[in-house]
Amino acid sequence: MAAKECDLFIIGAGSGGVRAARLAAQRGARVAVAEMGALGGTCVNRGCIPKKLYSYAAHYAEAFEEAHGFGWPVQAPAFDWERLKANRAREIERLNAVYGTVLSAHGVTLLRGQARLASPHEVDIGGERWRARHILVATGGHPLLPDVPGAEHAVSSDAMFDLPRFPRRLVVVGAGYIACEMASIFRGLGAQVTQLVRGTQLLRGFDDDVARFLAIEMGKKGVELRLRTHVQHIARRDDGLRITLFDGQTLDADTLLYATGRGANTRGLGLQEIGVHLGPRAEVRVDAHYQSNLPSIHALGDVTDRLQLTPVALAEATVLVDRLFGSGMRRMDYEFVPTAVFTHPSVGTVGWTEAEARTRFGALRTYLSEFKPLKHTLSGVDERTLMKLVVDDASDRVVGVHMVGADAGEIVQGFAVALRAGATKAVFDSTVGIHPTSAEEFVTMREPVMA
Ligand code: FAD
Ligand code: NDP
Repeated sequence: MAAKECDLFIIGAGSGGVRAARLAAQRGARVAVAEMGALGGTCVNRGCIPKKLYSYAAHYAEAFEEAHGFGWPVQAPAFDWERLKANRAREIERLNAVYGTVLSAHGVTLLRGQARLASPHEVDIGGERWRARHILVATGGHPLLPDVPGAEHAVSSDAMFDLPRFPRRLVVVGAGYIACEMASIFRGLGAQVTQLVRGTQLLRGFDDDVARFLAIEMGKKGVELRLRTHVQHIARRDDGLRITLFDGQTLDADTLLYATGRGANTRGLGLQEIGVHLGPRAEVRVDAHYQSNLPSIHALGDVTDRLQLTPVALAEATVLVDRLFGSGMRRMDYEFVPTAVFTHPSVGTVGWTEAEARTRFGALRTYLSEFKPLKHTLSGVDERTLMKLVVDDASDRVVGVHMVGADAGEIVQGFAVALRAGATKAVFDSTVGIHPTSAEEFVTMREPVMA
């Protein structure tokens, strides 16, 4: 068959793919994008956006309670799950359309269907063959569920936003971003939530003080946390699920969510058949320029199994397009990438944990503050905030900013700029606070924690 031609063929119209398509088209490249699902990928359809909308929904339950202390003796009305789902679906459809408009406005050819590589310069989709100077694999990832007897009765995060019935009893397995966020959100919406963790703490890889503090705060909100716990098997019964644990205990639930990590979408893409090297987790192996071992084939975002965050996929796409169609040889700098976990209360963090910093820098100073935010002096809610700074003692540079508390992501985003600019503790100390805020605590901590 005669092949159609373009300069850049992108597989996947998610965060990274759409950004790469738009930027490459703006630089005059002829671009085609294949998408087998909804435009916008994981973030828009099953990730960041619906998750944050549901987190807002869950915060209303608290707001009704908190209002009493401020002179509003309101009773929370019944929560309407169907209305939330419908409103979310409408907003996501609007975003899907916006993504379509972005592509068409830039002259990008959108191809609907599942794409497969035929050679280092060819892609098959919907019975057509496309020939491209460069190919970008931006196919994202999928949830991984462990091989537990009865796992077919469990769901992944993909299903959580559209559960036919609101789960009165929810069991969540995992301690990472998704498990903690979903546990918080569904607890806030009114579910009875039990979170099963195989290890000894939440959010492995985050600062230990953050993990410890978050577990306490989530517990106060009513999430029942069970550590060192493993599911042995899951059975369906008339009234829901029966979950048997390895210690013989059982739990009854309406929904069991496995939030146990994600794997790269590389199956069925024809990558290995044409000689692209994959890593041990089936991810596409790329160099610092997102190039695979075949010079015409590139990959970025979740399919490369590095930092699985939308802004990272977007930034990688910018760097790649700059190299392929511009003059850039700039490399993406992965140091001081900020991140937030939208738990209740939320986590915001940038830079090194105390343990990582100790290995990297040696002598440190750490500053820690735990306090009751002003709002909760009247709200009657027993929620506390944690703020922590990690400082390299030799250079006085602040190398870690960590927070658990309301709006942590909003606050830490600004401090990420300071850390990238190399701000020292002396600069933090000379910065005037904004009063009364929680964030001012970051520039008023003076006494280091005694070692
Ligand atoms: P994706 O956005 O997943 O896009 C890949 C696209 O490729 C998909 O649309 C898929 O349909 C398509 N595709 C796959 N194979 C083919 C094929 N063969 N042919 C055609 N199309 C194909 N990140 C944050 O930064 N903040 C958050 O708050 C956040 N929350 C999240 C919450 C959840 C529940 C989840 C699951 C993830 C969350 N993430 C968050 C992570 C974020 O969604 C991802 O890091 C990001 O979407 C990755 O973008 P991507 O372009 O690599 O892949
Ligand atoms: P994570 O890698 O963050 O966490 C996986 C969790 O599952 C860990 O607690 C892990 O435990 C546990 N686990 C793994 N296998 C098993 C098993 N067999 N049995 C029991 N527990 C198990 O993955 P997520 O799925 O939560 O999220 C995937 C990625 O998506 C995140 O890493 C993040 O990059 C991105 N994301 C970002 C968000 C944000 O920016 N706010 C929100 C949601 C997702 P252990 O710690 O012991 O290994």
